[in-house]
Amino acid sequence: MAYQENSAMAESARSGYLCTSLVAAAVALALALCAPVCLAQEMAQGQGPAPRLASDPHVDSHIAEAIRQVSADHIRQTIEILVSFQNRSTISAQDEASIKAGTGIGAAREWIKAEFERYSKECGGCLEVKTDSFTEQPSERIPQPTEITNVYAVLRGTDAQQAKRIVLVTGHYDSRNSDPLNGTDPAPGANDDGSGTAVSLECARVLTQISRKAKFRAIPATIIFLTVAGEEQGLNGSKHFAQMAKQQGWKLEAVLNNDIVGGNLGPGQDASVVRVFSEGLPAVASEAESKRIRALGGESDSTSRELARYVADVGRSYDAGVKPLLIFRLDRFLRGGDHYSFNQQGFAAVRFTEFREDFNHQHQTPRTENGIEYGDLSKFVDFDYVAHVARLNAATLASLASAPAPPANVKMQTKDLDNDTTLTWEPSSGAAAYEVVWRSTKAPDWEYVQTVSSGTRATLKVSKDNVIFGVRAVDAAGHRSLPVVPEPER
Ligand SMILES: [Zn+2]
Repeated sequence: MAYQENSAMAESARSGYLCTSLVAAAVALALALCAPVCLAQEMAQGQGPAPRLASDPHVDSHIAEAIRQVSADHIRQTIEILVSFQNRSTISAQDEASIKAGTGIGAAREWIKAEFERYSKECGGCLEVKTDSFTEQPSERIPQPTEITNVYAVLRGTDAQQAKRIVLVTGHYDSRNSDPLNGTDPAPGANDDGSGTAVSLECARVLTQISRKAKFRAIPATIIFLTVAGEEQGLNGSKHFAQMAKQQGWKLEAVLNNDIVGGNLGPGQDASVVRVFSEGLPAVASEAESKRIRALGGESDSTSRELARYVADVGRSYDAGVKPLLIFRLDRFLRGGDHYSFNQQGFAAVRFTEFREDFNHQHQTPRTENGIEYGDLSKFVDFDYVAHVARLNAATLASLASAPAPPANVKMQTKDLDNDTTLTWEPSSGAAAYEVVWRSTKAPDWEYVQTVSSGTRATLKVSKDNVIFGVRAVDAAGHRSLPVVPEPER
C-alpha cells in the first residue's frame, strides 16, 4: 500500500512536473511563435502600411529568361576542354610551344580569353576582355619567379553613373594533383575548379546573350566575369586582383566565388542545395569596430553576410534548380578560398561550394588504389548541378546590377531613450523607394519589410533594442539593392 501511495505520489509529482513542463513548453512555443507575430503587430500599430514578410519573392521576367539560357551541355564542354589541358597548375608550362600543344596553364589561359572574346563578338563587342598579369616571387609553393595571369571580361553598365558600381563572379582556373609542386602529371581539376571557371564563363555567355536583345532592359551597373590563377599555390591571383580593386578605388559591391560546385556524383550528395559561406566578423574590422560589433550584437551582419542573405532572397525568387544553404562561417575547416582575398580588402564576398565534397576526387593524382578511383575527373561532375549553380549566380549578378546603389550613410538615432526606431539615409541614384527590413536578433534572415515610398527617413514602432534593422533601395521595377545595417548615431 505504502508502495502504491508512494508510487501514486511519485506519479502525481511526475504528472505535476509534466504539466509544468507542458505549460512551460506551451509558453515557450507561444513566445517563439509570437516573437515575429508580435513584432508585426507592434509594427502594424504604427503609421503607414502593414509590414510584409521579407521572404516575398520578386521576379524580373528578363532575368528569369536569361537564366533559362544556361546550358548544362555547354558547361560540360567548358569543363572537358579545361581538363584537356592536362595540368593547369600555376607552375605548369606557359611558353609558346606548350600553348600551341594545348598543355599547361598558359594554354588554359589563352583558351579562356578566346572564349570571352567569342561571347563578346556574339554580342557586338559588349565585353571588354582583359588580363591582369604579375610576377609572383618564390614562396613555399612557388619555386621560382612565376608569371600569374587573371583573365576577366567586363560587361560595362549602361547607366553612366551606375556603371561605377561593380558586381563580380569568379572561379579559379588553376588546378593541382596530389603534389602541389607537380606541374606536369595530370591534374584534371574538373570540379576544383573547372566547375567554378565554367560558372564565370556561363554567366558571361548568358548575360551578354540576353543583353544584346533589344527587349532585355539595360543593366545599369557593371558585371565582371573573372577567372583567377594561383589559388592552389596561396590565393595569389585573387589577392592581386582584390588589391588592384582596392588601390584603384573600385566600387565593388559583391563578389561571388564559386569553388567546387561540381555536385560531385557520390553517396550523400544533396543536389538540391549549394552551400554559401560568408564571414561573420569582417576580416578588416578594426579593434574599435569589433568592439562596437560585440556591444551591439552585430556579429552576423557583415556586408558578406548581407550578400549571402541576398543570395537566399534570389534563391526564393528564381527557379535556379538549386537552393542556397547559408553557412555562417568564412569557409570549411582547414580550407580557404578566393573570397577571402576580397574580404581582406574590405569587400563583400561569399563562397559557393557543393553540399558534400568527395576528397578522393580533389587534389588527387588520378589513379586506382585498393579499388578506389582517385582524381578530379569530369565523370564525377554533375553538369546539371553546375548549371543550376550558374543560374543562381547569374540571377544574383543580374539582380544586383539592375538594382539601385545601396543607400549610403544609413543611421539609427540613439540619442534618446526611446522604444521607437528612427532611421535616416542618403538618397541612392536610381531608387524609386526604400525598404526597411528587420528581423529578431536570433533570426538568421530578414523577417519583415516596410516600404518607405517617399523621403529618406522612417520612424517605426519597433524597438531597436529587440531587432536588427537594414535599409535597402528599390527601383521602379522592384529590383532590390543589398541592405545596409544602420550605424547608431548619438
Ligand atoms: Zn579550389
